[in-house]
Amino acid sequence: MATLIDLSSDTATRPSPEMRAFMAQAPVGDEQKQEDPSVNALQERVAGLLGKEAALYLPSATMANEIAVKVHTRPGDEVILDRTAHIVNAEAGGPALLSGVMLFTVQGTRGVFTPQQVEEGIRRDDPHQPRTRLVSVEQTSNLGGGTVWPLEQLRAVAEAAHRHDLRTHLDGARLMNAVAASGVPAHEQARGYDSVTFCLTKGLGCPVGALVAGDREFMKDARRYKHLFGGAMRQAGIIAAAGLYALDHNVDRLAQDHTNAKILARGLAEIPGIRIQVEHVETNLVFFDVAGTRLSAAEVASRLAARGVRVGATGRSLMRAVTHLDVSQADIERAVAIAQEVLGKARAGAAGE
Ligand SMILES: *Cc1c(COP(=O)(O)O)cnc(C)c1O
Repeated sequence: MATLIDLSSDTATRPSPEMRAFMAQAPVGDEQKQEDPSVNALQERVAGLLGKEAALYLPSATMANEIAVKVHTRPGDEVILDRTAHIVNAEAGGPALLSGVMLFTVQGTRGVFTPQQVEEGIRRDDPHQPRTRLVSVEQTSNLGGGTVWPLEQLRAVAEAAHRHDLRTHLDGARLMNAVAASGVPAHEQARGYDSVTFCLTKGLGCPVGALVAGDREFMKDARRYKHLFGGAMRQAGIIAAAGLYALDHNVDRLAQDHTNAKILARGLAEIPGIRIQVEHVETNLVFFDVAGTRLSAAEVASRLAARGVRVGATGRSLMRAVTHLDVSQADIERAVAIAQEVLGKARAGAAGE
């Protein structure tokens, strides 16, 4: 039996022998004392990439988002963000527990919302109401389907927020996928955002790590909360080096993941009962609905897993497949063939199901 084709997430990547060798050689020091040369180099590099004054190395992008929310808000404040946002759905209620804030969710289009929606969501200056303080966007939108925010819309949302004295956060866990898909440099996309989360463990293929970037004022508080949340480390250069390696070797290839995602989407679209909008596959995330197969997502996942293809069941009938640097185009073609074998393929002239 062939090896597993793991499409469950782009976090499934394992560090390559070359990345491991680079990590093993990394110069290190005490990160908590800001004396680790590899961490310092990565922070400078990412700050430059994002066009921010500084960046802070962290164990995870979840911590990056939670630190940003904490720095920008006071307890009782409200944050405007899309209902699909990772901060809303996948951070264990962190904003409530760690920052004591309310989340005002808007319904965007596949995770992308408008400046009008921001303005409609802002509370009146009224002692009965919470104080709106922060707007957060996600590039690319994960649960929105890997959607890329167009640059004008990112800018317009940030401008609307700042017009009303709100702070802005960009959850750029997959920002480099948006760069690969749009050709718009990261610093252009990050402009207008007071803080930016940057994840190393998704498409960039590192075993651990993320950064949060912002201006020096933001960074003073961010560093304090990093420590308070237990994120300050010691000889972290050994893991930060993976980030330096990834920025040199794993960025340009992201376009291949996007090509693979489209091949996968087109192949899945040929299976009767699978509903998928191929044109909505903009990056490396492929969402599809299997209701029409009369099988549950969990059942489809287990049938595919039995054939060596791992795909995520994200709802009763909704599934997510993710392309990344550990799956080749040949793997994707094989995954499509297996899915078509397991679930059936529409033959020419066959009517519907
Ligand atoms: C994965 C992800 C995160 C969190 O990343 P971790 O490093 O796993 O904590 C945050 N935001 C988005 C949009 C993500 O997809």
